[in-house]
Amino acid sequence: MRLHFDTGLCVRAKSKFSNCTKCVEVCPSSIQIVDNLPSFAPSTGIQAAACVGVCPTGAFSLSDFSVTEFFFRFLASKVRLISPGVNVPCISVLSVEHLIALALASDDAISLDLTGYEKESALLMHIKGTIQEANFVLSSFCDKRLETNIIETPVQTEAFLSKQEEVSRRDFLRNASLKGAIKQKIAFDDAVNAEVLQRFEVDSTIIAKIKNKQLPDKRKILFTALKRTAAPKVFEILPQEEVSFVSQKYIDENCTNCQICYRVCPTGALSSDGKFSLIHFDAMLCVKCHLCHDVCEPHAIGLQSGFEIKEFFEPSQRTLAVFNIKRCNECGNYFTYTGGEQICPRCLVEEEEAFFLHHNAKKMRGEE
Ligand code: SF4
Ligand code: SF4
Ligand code: SF4
Repeated sequence: MRLHFDTGLCVRAKSKFSNCTKCVEVCPSSIQIVDNLPSFAPSTGIQAAACVGVCPTGAFSLSDFSVTEFFFRFLASKVRLISPGVNVPCISVLSVEHLIALALASDDAISLDLTGYEKESALLMHIKGTIQEANFVLSSFCDKRLETNIIETPVQTEAFLSKQEEVSRRDFLRNASLKGAIKQKIAFDDAVNAEVLQRFEVDSTIIAKIKNKQLPDKRKILFTALKRTAAPKVFEILPQEEVSFVSQKYIDENCTNCQICYRVCPTGALSSDGKFSLIHFDAMLCVKCHLCHDVCEPHAIGLQSGFEIKEFFEPSQRTLAVFNIKRCNECGNYFTYTGGEQICPRCLVEEEEAFFLHHNAKKMRGEE
């Protein structure tokens, strides 16, 4: 089983200002940042599978294991134990979103087998943290929980395989739409072939993918599982630092409407209208990749202190900023009007340059 990396989905490929290091933090011995992109040896196997689970945009995948296919196969089977080497290569391939969705979609309690993990290891700590976060979020709106098991007798693979039935993945995902959500399912590319530490080149196919906005499958799965869940009577607000996969934002008065954040947002959570006169935000499309914060020069975009669980059940699109838009007297393009300007900032720069050159020329001729 090999680790695959899809450059076009990594937020570091979308902007050189991205500071995302989630994959490196979880697999420091295998993944490094080289030329601003994650890099790993092609022989890297499933010991680095935690990066598949943590990457907010789904840039990492495994050659012989699809987490999405596992999700449907598991629910169709009668087995309710997730065990490494039996039905998953490693529990760390499952994200918090997958674990929440599995707990919600299953009528019976699900156990996760932690038997094979080295005590106190960073991997075990990471997996426990992921389960803890999933249970914490679940506890805010339902009584379902994931359990952890240390089992003595190895589980028989046959017991899993014989009970598996086919389930229509398409039917499950059909209802996963949300206003503004990108429904497209990506094809996972094979990117690693060379026998040296791989450097990922950004070619024209990848550039097209970078421009594309798409929602990872794990988020579509979570949407659908939530749709089938009864809303709680009271909606809690969770501290933003306790929720790693989704966020709510605000934009303050320092915003210059430079357009960068909503242009680079990989999922379309941040968006604008045709005139760039406002900034919209769909919390349930946000994967908390932090890219919008990293690119915002005046630090105008921030995280709301709490995440409102109401968004899970009644997703909304909020307007974070509204701008006064005017047509430039010079070029005719729209620009953000702050008071008094007749031309756009680009034409202003050009005008100032022309003025400078004109005076310089006069000086050289001794006319000034
Ligand atoms: S987006 Fe994914 S692959 Fe890219 S740096 Fe972040 S975690 Fe790593
Ligand atoms: S929030 Fe920041 S990045 Fe986004 S438009 Fe405003 S200034 Fe630009
Ligand atoms: S809104 Fe910001 S943090 Fe959320 S997905 Fe878009 S760029 Fe990432």
